[in-house]
Amino acid sequence: MRVFSGARPTGRQHIGNYLGAIRNYAELQEEYECIYCIVDVHALTTMEDALSTSRIQSNIQEMMLDWLACGLDPQKSILFVQSRVPEVLELHTFLSMITPLGWLLRVPTFKEKVRVQPHNVNYGLVGYPVLQAADIVLYKAELVPVGEDQLPHLELAREIARRFNNIFGYTFPEPEAKLTNLPLVLGLDGEQKMSKSLGNDIELASSPKETEERVMTAVTDPARRYLSDPGHPDICNIFRLHHFFNSEGVEEIARACPEAHIGCVECKKMLAGRMNACLAPMRERRENLARKPQYIREILDHGAERARIIACATLGEVKHKIGLT
Ligand code: ADP
Repeated sequence: MRVFSGARPTGRQHIGNYLGAIRNYAELQEEYECIYCIVDVHALTTMEDALSTSRIQSNIQEMMLDWLACGLDPQKSILFVQSRVPEVLELHTFLSMITPLGWLLRVPTFKEKVRVQPHNVNYGLVGYPVLQAADIVLYKAELVPVGEDQLPHLELAREIARRFNNIFGYTFPEPEAKLTNLPLVLGLDGEQKMSKSLGNDIELASSPKETEERVMTAVTDPARRYLSDPGHPDICNIFRLHHFFNSEGVEEIARACPEAHIGCVECKKMLAGRMNACLAPMRERRENLARKPQYIREILDHGAERARIIACATLGEVKHKIGLT
């Protein structure tokens, strides 16, 4: 079975990326043939000027540092940058011919982008899920590790693959999503998805001090205003994160919080301490890797070469089936 996933070059990764996706990337490479791609062309859909595009290369570098430090292994997985395998753009064009516009206009993330960037509703933005489908089916991937926010896109990728198969004969497996046990990590506001663009994130590579400062700003149970108020861990985002970073202490908090035996400040301090302890080895690996930029360039060069072999084979088959060769 082949696994594929992509993520935009947003730079340093946050704990939402980690708990929702990167953990699975690393686990799956132990069992399957995995291909992980930094989708730089997708990033262009929300960039409006040369200043933002000028950050793409450093964002790729930062993101690779996090991926490698989290355990992605170039000996096991193919790691590459989307634009280095231009066959995907050709396949995107072919798939766009069989994708009804109505399917794309209904996608929730498209509607959301129209709301937040009404001045830049570009053609590429509408086609974002078609390019994503092309990414996945170009490698005939069957499993796609992603966060919950990506499910509508994946459903569309399945529909596009099915439609192509129906018209031109079986070519692509219908890819399935693979979620982690925390597929939607909320941001420090406790309301919206943790996301770099919303500024409610904690970066994996933050210093221990920055991590603590960020955690201390997090919203907890809004009904709890005084130390003597009983808390509701079931609705508290900080409590949810304790499950992942403080598995030994989580039961004690579940008991103490509703009885007001522990306050939110203490609870957050504890989380920050545990988070820093869990992330320390990853941060150390990252620091070492950061001294070897040439090594990262080599990984990406080699990854693109390997990806391109698979991509060219699929594209040849697609052109033949369509009747272009
Ligand atoms: P961002 O939303 O910060 O721009 P991306 O869209 O590049 O990040 O997402 C990369 C991967 O991380 C995707 O699989 C996405 O579903 C996952 N992901 C991003 N944010 C979260 C989150 N808050 N919770 C769970 N998974 C997430």
